[in-house]
Amino acid sequence: MESIKGRFAPSPTGRMHLGNAFCALLAWLSARSQGGRLLLRMEDLDPQRSRERYARMLMEDLLWMGLDWDEGAGIPGEEEKQYWQSRREEEYAKALDLLKWQELLYPCFCTRAELHAAEAPHASDGQVIYSGRCRELTMEERQEKEKHRRPAIRIRVPDEMISFTDGCRGVYEENLAWDCGDFILRRSDGVFAYQLAVTWDDGVMGVSQVVRGSDLLSSTPRQIWLQRLWGFPQPQYYHAPLLLAPDGRRLSKRDGDLDLGALRSRIGPEELVGKLAFWAGILPKEEAVTPRELVSLFDWEKVKKQDILLDTPMLDF
Ligand code: GLU
Repeated sequence: MESIKGRFAPSPTGRMHLGNAFCALLAWLSARSQGGRLLLRMEDLDPQRSRERYARMLMEDLLWMGLDWDEGAGIPGEEEKQYWQSRREEEYAKALDLLKWQELLYPCFCTRAELHAAEAPHASDGQVIYSGRCRELTMEERQEKEKHRRPAIRIRVPDEMISFTDGCRGVYEENLAWDCGDFILRRSDGVFAYQLAVTWDDGVMGVSQVVRGSDLLSSTPRQIWLQRLWGFPQPQYYHAPLLLAPDGRRLSKRDGDLDLGALRSRIGPEELVGKLAFWAGILPKEEAVTPRELVSLFDWEKVKKQDILLDTPMLDF
């Protein structure tokens, strides 16, 4: 049997926070408990928001927690740059060309305001479902519009249900045309979109297991459809619960007091790992442990299915 290959795919747009640490621990345990390998890919596509110093800190924070990887960013060698999305633009241009030849792409000139018109319906992830306004423009109309505005590139989705079984959440399905709409593969500023880069990279890097936060569950049908178009096998997906702040918001990089920089001054790595494992449902009580010690205890059956609300005392450390 082919061995499992899991991955960490963080965006280095800030210091790692508690929610990222939780997800990274689950990704590591999931792969290691099945005898698998892990790769680290830096999703630093957005030049406005990504910083190399955050990427370096991210690697340091993962290692501090006891989470290692076998391939990718930070592993010395010629190929390291292959694992930084900002250095893979040529690859993404090729990936886009493959879809162009299938006549699935079209330029979209809509402005943000046009897209967010009051009546625009929204998908489950809050994104506007695209009306298809630019889909049927004639060649002349496109040429005229191109004089004034650089277009984004969209892909035309089929009226088709994409269904898959998530290893944590069970069956999930979406009709691409009705629940999502034609989506962007390259933004009007030329930056390749997350959906294109992540699907292409998981495919060419041979990732067979994807563990990530449940906020990305609704991206998965789009990614499965792209995999089929490019001819990649479908990885096994596990969408882990999110950690929610006491007010029900999802923890984010804005919660500075819960980033690893602040946490590391208050708590040791084994204590932190023990807390995260307890919250996830892997440990029956909170105790200091290393990720290694959790490997034999790990089972997705134990992991909570719903997002985890943290109350104030839980965050008091
Ligand atoms: N880079 C994304 C993030 O940090 C995760 C992408 C993925 O796991 O598919 O949110």
